[in-house]
Amino acid sequence: MTGEEVKELSRKYVLQSWSIQKTLNPVPIEKAEGIYMYDYNGKRYADMSAQLVNLNVGFGNQAIANAIKEQVDRYCYLAPSYAVEPRAELAKMLIDLLPDNFGKVFFTNAGADANENAIKIARMYTGKNKVFSRYRSYHGSSFGAGNLTGEPRRFPLEPGIPGFVKFFDPYIYREAIDFPSEEAATKFYLAKLEEQIKYEGADSIAAIVMETITGSNGVIIPPKGYMPGVRALCDKYNIIMICDEVMAGFGRTGKMFAFENFDIKPDLVSFAKGVNCGYVPLGGVAVSTKIAEYFDEHMLSCGLTYSGHPLACAAGVACLNYYKESNIIQHVYEVGKVLGELLEELKEKHPCVGDVRYIGLFSAIELVKDKETKEPLVEYGKDPNGVMGSIIGNLKEKGFMTYSHENMLFVNPALIITEEQLKEELVKMDEVLAVVDKEYI
Ligand code: PLP
Repeated sequence: MTGEEVKELSRKYVLQSWSIQKTLNPVPIEKAEGIYMYDYNGKRYADMSAQLVNLNVGFGNQAIANAIKEQVDRYCYLAPSYAVEPRAELAKMLIDLLPDNFGKVFFTNAGADANENAIKIARMYTGKNKVFSRYRSYHGSSFGAGNLTGEPRRFPLEPGIPGFVKFFDPYIYREAIDFPSEEAATKFYLAKLEEQIKYEGADSIAAIVMETITGSNGVIIPPKGYMPGVRALCDKYNIIMICDEVMAGFGRTGKMFAFENFDIKPDLVSFAKGVNCGYVPLGGVAVSTKIAEYFDEHMLSCGLTYSGHPLACAAGVACLNYYKESNIIQHVYEVGKVLGELLEELKEKHPCVGDVRYIGLFSAIELVKDKETKEPLVEYGKDPNGVMGSIIGNLKEKGFMTYSHENMLFVNPALIITEEQLKEELVKMDEVLAVVDKEYI
């Protein structure tokens, strides 16, 4: 097929996620390698979002591809009730990577069902039913995960499931109060959370679910002491702490898991994306030994036909080995430092950049009309003139592929990106932001 034919077939028959279908103009990709994709005319695009912040190893990782091929030749599928080598091996590898309080893994197909099962496990274990999560969050689009989600992508599911309670993230840049320090902010947010726990009734709350670092709602990094503070509240009120590491996990922040940045040990960790980078869909929930032991005596009422799919797990084993052998964490730390410097330069230079937030290779650029007032470039939940879409379009023209959310642009490339590649691409961001300054400020 030609590129045009692929595009037309796609537009005619594929319903695309989160889109008004008639506006779609998907780029047909003929091949992809490393951080680059190529269309059918040979135009190169740098993937500056690692697809949906999952393709940490980039395209064409041979170690993962070969592991999948070898598993295809052995067998492609066995039901979850069988003992399967890559499934067992991957579970052990994950437990070895996690803190010492972790014991077992329940595998799922992706991130949403990882969160679905995490909240089920917390409810079964505690015998309580309410679940706290945050407004500026995305946890998946299925019914339970969609109800955990705090931002407008949950609206089609409303009225929501009873017992799903929302609280606010520590989003200091846009807080109504100016805090004198990070510690003061932490104190404020923790006091509010504790008040809410009391008003909801601690005896009814099974779990607090948080993206360790809020991802698609703007890379919101918790202030000093916040995560240990939430951990302490969970301990005080006997609530399960669930860290959603679907986006932030597996090296993205310069640590294997994002919660390692805050020196805490959650009770449950949901994961997906970077566990095998989507070479075959995979997700899961890692559970503490204490919770795992509960299910030694009680029924685990969770199940999926493809739980721990052999091909996905074989890809996972190869992927985790690749992270280790390529010393990816050190690489992210080093290139992440350069990313931070480049983003700070953009903020300094462009009136349209209100804030930049970054950790490792996880970053967001928040666009404003006015740096002083922080008025967002587009109003929350509204962009009738397609301003953000046209900025993304300008980047795409230059071969820089990423996505936006509300008034934010994301720079979350594959973790294998080199310093040179990053610098080359951020020149394009600089040029596009200059156009934004001129047209909208
Ligand atoms: N949790 C987080 C933090 C995510 O970013 C996502 C997806 O982007 C999900 C859960 C849902 O994962 P999936 O799309 O694999 O169901």
